[in-house]
Amino acid sequence: MRLLDKVCIITGAGSGIGQSAAVRFGAEQAIVVVADIDREKGEETAQAIASAGGRAVFVHADVTNPESAKAMVDETIRLYGRIDVLFNNAGISGVGMLHEIEPDAWDRVMNVNIRGVYLPSKYAIPPMMERRSGSIINMSSCIAEIGLARRASYAATKGAVLSLTKSMQVDYAPYGIRVNALLPGTIMTPFVENYLKTSYDDPAAAIESLKKRQLSGELGRPDDVANAAVFLASDESKFMMGSPLYIDGGVVFG
Ligand code: NAD
Repeated sequence: MRLLDKVCIITGAGSGIGQSAAVRFGAEQAIVVVADIDREKGEETAQAIASAGGRAVFVHADVTNPESAKAMVDETIRLYGRIDVLFNNAGISGVGMLHEIEPDAWDRVMNVNIRGVYLPSKYAIPPMMERRSGSIINMSSCIAEIGLARRASYAATKGAVLSLTKSMQVDYAPYGIRVNALLPGTIMTPFVENYLKTSYDDPAAAIESLKKRQLSGELGRPDDVANAAVFLASDESKFMMGSPLYIDGGVVFG
């Protein structure tokens, strides 16, 4: 019960890593606010937590929209009176060499992956400041630190999230708020499956080549990242501030 009674908002909790984290948080006795733009998938996650005996509520949210992000925070405060943890997980992929990326596609990935960290944080931080307590977990990626082919726009967003994490930590440390970043390697989720299918003629060969880049020789599972998120959400990580936490099978060093 590492998150007993902690009120935790997880964005993008309808799928992949966010879904896995929501289920793990629920199992650790958190009160989980499952936030997602996809109503059906978000409701499924909340149901799965409740079926396992946990506490969860689904809140529809588009993290790129100020009214929606504020409503997500307001609803959490209305229901539970506080926010202990904000996990800014929602994200989308961006594929292509820079000259191939259309301006709309560039803006879309910037909007979800950067504005989608800024807006929920903007509204969740004031109630955390008032209580002088909180843990914010921002989803970056190992791509913030290594070059990968045809991922320019996506890499730019994840580098930005890492920088933002450090600035946020400096600003909010005096208010008892910790802000850390997760840097996963390749984790098999719908996001990656879709990327492989649309970007490679032979997705199976692409998986083998990705595995070779890892010291572990294997790709990650959503649970691998969810476990790290539990740690950053819990008081066990109370001395971690502004840290990049790698969950990448050693790809950064491979
Ligand atoms: P996923 O596609 O399985 O899940 C993403 C979720 O975010 C979906 O449920 C989707 O509906 C939701 N979402 C998208 N736009 C939204 C919006 N505007 N508002 C609210 N919710 C929205 O992806 P995943 O692989 O679980 O990725 C989760 C996060 O982890 C992303 O930020 C991604 O960049 C990051 N990440 C993933 C990997 C990986 O290999 N899978 C590696 C590093 C970082």
